[in-house]
Parts: sequence; structure tokens; C-alpha cells
Amino acid sequence: MELGKREIHDHERFINYGREHRYSNDWFLRKASYLGEDYELLTDYKGCKYKVTFYHKKCGKLWTVRAGGVVLDHYHCVHCFRSRGERRLIKFCKDNNIEILSEYAGMKAKVKFKPKSCNHEFYRSPSDLIWGTKECPYCNGLRPKENVNSFILEFIKWRKIHGWTQADIAYQLKMSNHTISDLERGYKEPNKEQISLFKYYMDFYK
Ligand SMILES: [Zn+2]
Ligand SMILES: [Zn+2]
Repeated sequence: MELGKREIHDHERFINYGREHRYSNDWFLRKASYLGEDYELLTDYKGCKYKVTFYHKKCGKLWTVRAGGVVLDHYHCVHCFRSRGERRLIKFCKDNNIEILSEYAGMKAKVKFKPKSCNHEFYRSPSDLIWGTKECPYCNGLRPKENVNSFILEFIKWRKIHGWTQADIAYQLKMSNHTISDLERGYKEPNKEQISLFKYYMDFYK
């Protein structure tokens, strides 16, 4: 195809002579034509390394992007197009029948989930959910031990729902990992001070 040939030609020129060769605004607009009529270029194109700003009529927001991202990668308005990670999470949750209850903020940031099979709500990072533990913490891994204090059982449940490790809690509450571990395994009974400290945090992060 005629057009296809020209695309490759321009692309090569960009790679080889990108810095010396000054492409015009018109050239850039032709490159940006895949965006369609909803995008209006507000700033002048100065080279692929520099940023340009578009007004996206559909969402009414300004979109600033490195021009190279438009020319070579065919990017779209960042306000309207979900990141690859978020799309992946959405697909994963759809496939596994899990509802997403809070905003996505990157693969490492905890999100609130609710499996439709059990309706329990819990927090976990998307990367942990997809590549780590898929199971609901209420339904799995919470076999109550008979000799563990009932308040501590609540505490363990709360900790797991939030996806925190014993070390996370120990750090936060300035206690030793050992103390938390002993309490959770029923080797020690919690004292009044520990109970009120735990309660405070459990109320704070419901
Ligand atoms: Zn937009
Ligand atoms: Zn469950």
C-alpha cells in the first residue's frame, strides 16, 4: 500500500535525522490524524522530543504529551484511556467474577475487591491479586485456632483483609514481629494495652 510505504519512510527519517530535520506542524498534524476530529492541537510542534498539548473535546481536558508518543506510539488522551495495568485488572476481575470497589492507582496500590461468589470485601494490590493470592481472605487461610484469643482472631481477620503482614503491623505499632506472631499463634494472651492499641487501628482502618 502506498500510504504504508510512506509511513515507514517518514519513520526512518525520524530515527536517522530526527534532530537535524525540522518537521513542520503540518507534518505533525498528519501524523496525529489517527486521533480524529476530537483532538485540537493547541501548541506548536517543535520536534518529537518536546511536549505538545491537545484539547480533547470529548472529555474537555487538556492533554500534554511528548510528541514522539503521538508520532511513533499513537497515544491517546490520558484522561480517557485507561492504562494497560488497569485494563488488565478489569479483564482479570471480569474473568474471575470479582467486583472492583475502589479506584485503581497502579499495580502496587491496594484496591478494594469483592468476589461475587462470596460477597466478602477485602483490600489487595492488583499485582498480588493477579500474580499472587487470588482467594478471598475470609474464605481461605483463616482457619480459626481454638486456643487463640477471640479478639486476636478478629485482629488476624482484619489484618489479612487489608493484606498486611505481621511485620507491617509490628512496624506500624512499634512492636516486635515476635510479639505479633506469638499473639496470633496463641502463645501469649494480649494485655489491655495491646488490645486498646489494636482496637484503635482496627477502628481507624476499617
Ligand atoms: Zn480525553
Ligand atoms: Zn469470601
